[in-house]
Amino acid sequence: MLVKNQILSLQAYQPGKSVEEIKKDYGLAKIVKLNSNENPYGCSPKAAEALARSSSQCAVYPDGQAMNLRTKAASHLGVNEDQIIFGAGLDEVIQIISRALLTPESNVVMASPTFSQYKLHAVIEGAEIRETATVNGHHDLESMLSQIDSQTRIVWICNPNNPTGTYINETSLKDFISRVPKETLVVIDEAYYEYVTAEDFPHSVKLLENNENVMVLRTFSKAYGLAGLRVGYGIGSSSFIQKLEVTRLPFNTSRTAQIAAEAALEDQNFIKECVKINEKGLKALEAFCEEHQINYYPSQANFIFLKTDNGAKLYELLLQKGYIARLFPDGLRITIGTEEENEQLLSDFKDIVAHAHTAN
Ligand SMILES: *Cc1c(COP(=O)(O)O)cnc(C)c1O
Repeated sequence: MLVKNQILSLQAYQPGKSVEEIKKDYGLAKIVKLNSNENPYGCSPKAAEALARSSSQCAVYPDGQAMNLRTKAASHLGVNEDQIIFGAGLDEVIQIISRALLTPESNVVMASPTFSQYKLHAVIEGAEIRETATVNGHHDLESMLSQIDSQTRIVWICNPNNPTGTYINETSLKDFISRVPKETLVVIDEAYYEYVTAEDFPHSVKLLENNENVMVLRTFSKAYGLAGLRVGYGIGSSSFIQKLEVTRLPFNTSRTAQIAAEAALEDQNFIKECVKINEKGLKALEAFCEEHQINYYPSQANFIFLKTDNGAKLYELLLQKGYIARLFPDGLRITIGTEEENEQLLSDFKDIVAHAHTAN
């Protein structure tokens, strides 16, 4: 078959080894999964209950507009219902935006490293990719601005950035947006929004009021603990969202996912509790890094990036002790686990560091 040329340069998503395979290969009884930034406490018990009650009606299509969820999300965010587009995870919203805006004549601007899906879809649409290296894990906004021209359709801002965990504050983001041409869409991916504790973090949804070319992305996969059900959404100006709706498949979010997301959204106490525990775990890990002179980026998310040339070795040593981290070319990203997992991790990490020192 003759597929698009762009496809030939790509590889299908390679899933890592399964937890069961790792257990077997390493002779481990237990594995702590710290590689996908999932909520270690799962989802709100209220969402779980709603899920348990939702098992009927499988033969009937879901509500393609996700009206009940839409009404709740709009009121939660303080926006109009027609300003929201739902996707089967944020991944699909990223695909929808790319499909609607990109052509082979266009280009996209993004940081490097950042979330991988922005680039994937740009490649598939044949668009040119302009990446700007992060500086100490931070988006280099000046450099990104200098990359924008009349053919730039999308600028991707990941805030906090995955995998570095760093954030852009309100002042810097406002200044950046004011300097981007009005024809270029600025997408602010806030997959980790709920975990942020910094007081100068942008009130991004407010920015939508005066900037038609801005869109904000949120998901139920991270703090809300519903990664397995696939629901995420974008918020933007109603006229732009209505254009994007053309490229959305009519029944892209399942009834089950909509029901669970609604219940999850209502339980903000669960989120508050998870955020508190996460912050504590993050601080303990940061303190550990300071104490052992491990380079890291200060994080506002539910993970931390350790910057090291020894990433592969560290990854392997952690795996031997039952922790799956995520390896990157210049370091390791570790998700914050439960309180108990985090304490155990620090204790095991101490052994690893001691071992690494004596080995050198
Ligand atoms: C996890 C993640 C997403 C995708 O999440 P979904 O599970 O598809 O909702 C999008 N952006 C960033 C930055 C992420 O880390």
